[in-house]
Amino acid sequence: MLQELTFGRLENEYYEREAKETDFVICVNGNRVLLTREENHQVSYPTVGDVREWADRNQWNTWKETKLQYIFRMQDKDYYLWMGEAGEAMDDSYVYEEIRQFSVFETKDACFAACTAMHLYVWYRNNQFCGRCQTQTVHDAKERMLRCPNCGNLIFPRISPAVIIAVTDGDHILMSKYAGRSYTRYALIAGFTEIGETLEETVKREVMEEVGLKVKNIRYYKSQPWGRDGGVLMGFFCDLDGSNEIRLDETELALAEWHERTSMPTEDDGISLTREMMRVFEEGREPK
Ligand SMILES: [Zn+2]
Repeated sequence: MLQELTFGRLENEYYEREAKETDFVICVNGNRVLLTREENHQVSYPTVGDVREWADRNQWNTWKETKLQYIFRMQDKDYYLWMGEAGEAMDDSYVYEEIRQFSVFETKDACFAACTAMHLYVWYRNNQFCGRCQTQTVHDAKERMLRCPNCGNLIFPRISPAVIIAVTDGDHILMSKYAGRSYTRYALIAGFTEIGETLEETVKREVMEEVGLKVKNIRYYKSQPWGRDGGVLMGFFCDLDGSNEIRLDETELALAEWHERTSMPTEDDGISLTREMMRVFEEGREPK
């Protein structure tokens, strides 16, 4: 499947293939990836040749004998993951950067490629062994799937559905800030879908839990893969149903307040669905 994404083309169909010296490698260490900035400010990653040399000399850790795992193709380049905790680069122009720092990435392509690589890294790391019988898993030859050679357990990548919710009341929109997180800008109500729940029920439940409001007329807007948190985000607009008096869940939110369409306190960062939805509301373009 060739995904035509708003931020570029990420060809993420799985193939079994051998890494070439000039292919790129995403090296993960904690929540950070190893990258360099080129003269045009574009982010770039080390090559297979670089990484093999650095890993040999600095004794980088791997999970098993498979050191490199093909992950995706982007703009005619193949990308691999270093299958372990990567160590130091032997080239000062490469640094480890937090994926959460969007400003690191010049383009949406680069940001979402890094998020997707991190999503896959976490999935591979967490499924080295079968959860049913503890045997070491092996990669399927044809698709992105791990299988247990002992009991036959099949393990597919886990993608957690989550919703982002723009609650509106005429020309007002509900904006919030998280409690106890490093992210301090305005956000929209958001949350993961529970097992056995429809997306519409998630929307109603999250709004009720976090701000004590009822909503109606729930309209789907758009989705966005959000590999950083292992999810896919689905954006919804909905209308306030009844009282606009907010009852804040202070364990989740530091504040929630209504803002007028004409005086929104935010700017689109060109990347996140949350900020796009705020801009869409500001311009009166939300689905009616
Ligand atoms: Zn098993």
